[in-house]
Amino acid sequence: MEVLYNSTRTGGISLKASRAILKGLSEDGGLFVPDHIPSLDKSLKELAQMDYRQTAYEVMKLYLTDFTEEELKDCIERAYDAKFDTEEIVPLKKAGEAYYLELFHGPTIAFKDMALSILPHLMITAARKNDVKNEIVILTATSGDTGKAALAGFAGVEGTRIVVFYPKDGVSVIQEKQMVTQKGDNTLVVGIRGNFDDAQSGVKQIFADRELAQEMAEKGFQFSSANSINIGRLVPQICYYVYAYGKLLRDGEIAEGETVNVAVPTGNFGNILAAFYAKNMGLPIGKLICASNENKVLYDFFRTGAYDRNREFRLTTSPSMDILISSNLERLIYRAAGNDADRNRELMAALGGQGRYEVTEEMKEALSDFYGNYATEEETAAEIRRLYEDYGYVIDTHTAVASAVYGKYAQETGDKAKTVIASTASPYKFTRSVMDALGTATGRGDEAKEDFALADELSALSGVKVPRAVEEIRTAAVLHKKVCEAWQMKDAVKEFLGIYTA
Ligand SMILES: *Cc1c(COP(=O)(O)O)cnc(C)c1O
Repeated sequence: MEVLYNSTRTGGISLKASRAILKGLSEDGGLFVPDHIPSLDKSLKELAQMDYRQTAYEVMKLYLTDFTEEELKDCIERAYDAKFDTEEIVPLKKAGEAYYLELFHGPTIAFKDMALSILPHLMITAARKNDVKNEIVILTATSGDTGKAALAGFAGVEGTRIVVFYPKDGVSVIQEKQMVTQKGDNTLVVGIRGNFDDAQSGVKQIFADRELAQEMAEKGFQFSSANSINIGRLVPQICYYVYAYGKLLRDGEIAEGETVNVAVPTGNFGNILAAFYAKNMGLPIGKLICASNENKVLYDFFRTGAYDRNREFRLTTSPSMDILISSNLERLIYRAAGNDADRNRELMAALGGQGRYEVTEEMKEALSDFYGNYATEEETAAEIRRLYEDYGYVIDTHTAVASAVYGKYAQETGDKAKTVIASTASPYKFTRSVMDALGTATGRGDEAKEDFALADELSALSGVKVPRAVEEIRTAAVLHKKVCEAWQMKDAVKEFLGIYTA
């Protein structure tokens, strides 16, 4: 059955998958959502026999219904290949009570590679299908990981350009180095004096600028988004939950149909929403454990039903989760509101205005699959230490937030169901924080140099080789030096595209 995509903010908008992928965001500012969630059409036993690419096809074909089998398989082959440093693509490691789904074996050693290695191919295919002649300009705000993963995905892809904005002082040394050393004439990387929300708001404003869109069209350009709001990123993320379940079944860790929980370190709410979709496709998932760091907006929301961004923004050691507006939550709110675009639009308008909204008791009821909690900085560091000391397994700070929250959940509820923890970054992406947690890092001098030295120390300690992604940037030249205020973002884009207005 065909799946069409509706806007979360206006009734009656209905697009084929390829159009929704090309647009990224709906013109009314809404997000595209599938008009129904399709059911898996293969049995769990059959899925358990499949490798990652086969599983990805079985999931994605159900959502991207206007792509042919050949097109989709071609995109999957191009995405999940030797760019990943393991044949398995996403290994599942048991440590203590939980299973860690390692989503960080792609080119930038973080989970965003799972979606961003396939998105450019989905987009180009979608453009071809829809006779789009314009060059596609990807515009992205990043809290660290999306930026490099998007750059890696789109660099050198013909017919595309990519612009990435990041908070100048809100990403790790290695994250910044990864981005500013990006090669490719079609890439631009700009640091913003502000935080991630400033960068994201700026990008949203540029997307909503009709005048600019007109000027772009005249020059043969059109925008699209690689941010986690693009449905072409959400869909590929559903695949690894299905794969993880199949793998547990294949390995005899669970019985067919046994319920498994999923714990996800959450920022923009894309990854955990994908798990929610997987559950609604018929995958036996129990609780969706939503883990926050000290920016615990989501924890408060699941507890009280009030979403309130009016609070102090904190910089933590899990920067990719330092977010006060979780964009993808809108898709869940829309669903909880009974797919009522008007109701959802009102709530989002309140969020845009007062920075706050509250859902009804009835809507809160519809969110009961979720459990929210958070981990403090101390708890996060202690969790890294615990896993290393007890099992010799080193995890990154984001994964540690989820792992610590899972511990709280298990203790609070006594739920013994097997749990998969989404392991979203390699410890080598946040080496300093990880080594700090292990109590081995000392002093600060030349930060960048030290971070690389720390990577060597981490390697000696964990017995895991320094990943290619880190080795590569050790000596790479800085190619992007632009820094600007948030209000200057539009000018930076225009300059890059050679658009000058009198
Ligand atoms: C982006 C990111 C997250 C948060 O994922 P969302 O889909 O935005 O909730 C968590 N951990 C890491 C390492 C990330 O890069």
